[in-house]
Amino acid sequence: MTTESHTVDVDVALIGGGIMSATLGAMLALVQPDWRVVIVERADDIATESSHPWNNAGTGHSGYCELNYMPDPADGDTAAAVAAQFAASRRWWAHLVDTGLITPGFMTTTPHMDVVFGDRDIAYLRRRFDTLRALPAFTDMRYSQDPAVITGWAPLVMAGRDPAQRVAATWHPSGTDIDFGALTRELTRLITGDTLLGHEVHTLNRMPTGGWRITGRCGRQRFELDAARVFIGAGGHTLTLLQRAGLPEIRGYGVLPVGAAFLRCSDPEISKHHNAKVYGQAPTGAPPMSVPHLDRRIVAGHAHLMFGPYATVSSRLLTRGRITDFFGTVRPHNVRALIRAATDNRSLIRYLIGQLLASRGRRFDQLRRYYPDADPRDWEWISAGQRAQLVAPDGELRTGTELIVAADDTIAGLLGASPGASTSVPIMIDLLRRWFPREWQSWRHRAGFGLLAS
Ligand SMILES: Cc1cc2nc3c(=O)[nH]c(=O)nc-3n(C[C@H](O)[C@H](O)[C@H](O)COP(=O)(O)OP(=O)(O)OC[C@H]3O[C@@H](n4cnc5c(N)ncnc54)[C@H](O)[C@@H]3O)c2cc1C
Repeated sequence: MTTESHTVDVDVALIGGGIMSATLGAMLALVQPDWRVVIVERADDIATESSHPWNNAGTGHSGYCELNYMPDPADGDTAAAVAAQFAASRRWWAHLVDTGLITPGFMTTTPHMDVVFGDRDIAYLRRRFDTLRALPAFTDMRYSQDPAVITGWAPLVMAGRDPAQRVAATWHPSGTDIDFGALTRELTRLITGDTLLGHEVHTLNRMPTGGWRITGRCGRQRFELDAARVFIGAGGHTLTLLQRAGLPEIRGYGVLPVGAAFLRCSDPEISKHHNAKVYGQAPTGAPPMSVPHLDRRIVAGHAHLMFGPYATVSSRLLTRGRITDFFGTVRPHNVRALIRAATDNRSLIRYLIGQLLASRGRRFDQLRRYYPDADPRDWEWISAGQRAQLVAPDGELRTGTELIVAADDTIAGLLGASPGASTSVPIMIDLLRRWFPREWQSWRHRAGFGLLAS
């Protein structure tokens, strides 16, 4: 049996307690502390889905090592754009640390590397390096085919390797590893209103007087919340909620669920020998999230090694979602786009089936490609979260994020994933500009926002 609870009025409701809502909420708290801003989160804690430290790779995406941003090694535009966006995020986080608003410790300098094998990929990497080195953000990048130099950068990658194998690597000293869960917590602390945990939003209805009535459940209790504006940062459930709100802007969009898993080693005697994030070339057909990488990760102050991600298959759109999640997003207006995305990406489907059928031994062989002496006894298999890969109305499988803003500016949501958390600051600045064009004129020089343009 459910019981009715009273209605609460707020200026801005943030649905979902991940890095995106936390960033927007913190920004609003700094420029408009008199507004009531609340987070509504279905789980019993914040940062339990994609922003949880083990549900993402913690890479500060800066274009140094992500080969999938540069399929054409002569075109560095995407890598440079991602580098600029991440630099903006860093400047704002540094401002918050410098002014004592958040505590440091969520970010660790960790060199970013690429390691590739064989003539074709070596030629590609060399060309990519030459392109990027000409751009200001990449001048510190190094390139080598010398096994001794690469051993100095990443000893575990070279130990036990066949000396006849041709290897090339790039190395950038200024890469970062980020505990996005810790950062989400720090930002959430700045928010002036409540964080309503265990509150699952079910419906959003436009009110005749303007704004939105949000309804849902907290345990067996029904709750209602009236908000002048709503941001849906519900990760894999964002599309579902935007569909329920009846936004015409969302017509035709779909999502495909792609799960992920990592191999993790928590032995400090091993992790102390690896101080880098080593990215490789993705296998044919692999989604961007499946570019293999061997990373040093610092989570809650402890060093670990992580390899993956491996793709897993589930119809859930959140790790704690329901198996009906994906089917609930299929509508007459997005069926064609979903079918087109599936038929145009047969190699992705083949890749996912291959991953699903892969034995434990075959999965471990993928790690040994980057760490030949790895011992299975040191590694555990962990879930790395669910991702809702965005399908555009034309059937294109999109890798980036997309901000959907209603024509009347009262509701917005964020779809997609990568480069995700790293670019949360410029994404939310973009939303503030579009949502509050009048207020933005006075906000733009406050709260450290002035630093973001440089
Ligand atoms: C395998 C993998 C690796 C990744 N690696 C990186 C990386 O290295 N670097 C990087 O920058 N990004 C990475 N990302 C992307 C990054 O994790 C995401 O972009 C980011 O965490 C998304 O944050 P969010 O706030 O939008 O969503 P989330 O953190 O998923 O938060 C959404 C929240 O909404 C809540 N919610 C859902 N439905 C409801 C509802 N109905 N009512 C109330 N609450 C609800 C959920 O419980 C959840 O807490 C990776 C993602 C994956 C899956």
